[in-house]
Amino acid sequence: MKKEKERIIGFCCNECAYAAADLAGQSGMKYPINTRIIRTPCSGSTDPLWVLEGLAQGAKGVFVSGCLPDQCHYGDGNVHAEESVNFLKKLLKAIGINPKYITSYFNSAGMPEAFSNSTTDFVKDVLSLPKLPDIKDKVKSEDKRERFLEILLAYATALGTIEKVNEKPIPREGFGMITVDEDKCVSCGSCALLCETDAITAKETKKHRKMYYAHHLCTGCEACVRACPTEAITVKKEIHLKPFLAKENNQFAGNQFVACSKCGAIYATVDILEEIKDEFELIDSKIVSLCPVCRREQVGVDYVNLSKYLISANLATEEEVK
Ligand code: SF4
Ligand code: SF4
Repeated sequence: MKKEKERIIGFCCNECAYAAADLAGQSGMKYPINTRIIRTPCSGSTDPLWVLEGLAQGAKGVFVSGCLPDQCHYGDGNVHAEESVNFLKKLLKAIGINPKYITSYFNSAGMPEAFSNSTTDFVKDVLSLPKLPDIKDKVKSEDKRERFLEILLAYATALGTIEKVNEKPIPREGFGMITVDEDKCVSCGSCALLCETDAITAKETKKHRKMYYAHHLCTGCEACVRACPTEAITVKKEIHLKPFLAKENNQFAGNQFVACSKCGAIYATVDILEEIKDEFELIDSKIVSLCPVCRREQVGVDYVNLSKYLISANLATEEEVK
């Protein structure tokens, strides 16, 4: 009876794995009664959070099953499902959990025996593993990403592995780690403006702009790379568990503001002016010390003066007219 209560959740694709499970039942083939199958349109639609959530909500193990390789009805959903489970296995291992609590396998609709055997083997393996800590109460957020983090953090904390978390980066779409070349960054703030998740933020005082980065919020979308005028940022699509779990928000650049020499308004950082100095020197080096508003005024004044000069220079004298 006790073993019966230890549930195993299986996310099975509608096209093959679920059909195989159905056929196994109709054909009198057995698989453990602990198994609870959740039908999904495609195994690739199984969100990694659902697998973690299954464990967090008390399932002893979770499996994902899709069509055979090259036979996914939606392209390559089955491959994505396998990649997701492999990614989760690495995460579990990194926080000190045996990755055997989860698995993935392929089936065709006409392979009920294979489904029955794979499921029976998995359930047998999982039931021999120790019980994972009960972390249900620690998982509260309704935000998907935050919830994902909460589950990993709760397990690492409960198992006492938080300080020993493996720091090796784990590649994965949907996560990003930026590197900023400090020599190139001018603290312009453009990356923070374009970053939709607030992974990059700018904090400003009257004198400074400081740039911060929080890896746990970064989706690796590369908007910051496109925004950066100095090509200072690169992004790798991977997760670094230590800063991710610690929700680190570290300063990566900072620079002093410069005030307009005419009106006193703050308009740029020291490094921005340094960066564009050469271009302005071609026109007029004085103009670089002006804010955009005063610069426009100055250009207008210069233009009017220049026009006057040109007109007067071109006016013919009375004698020339004769
Ligand atoms: S990659 Fe995307 S989410 Fe990450 S810091 Fe850059 S803009 Fe923000
Ligand atoms: S990384 Fe690029 S876009 Fe971001 S503050 Fe530095 S220079 Fe500006």
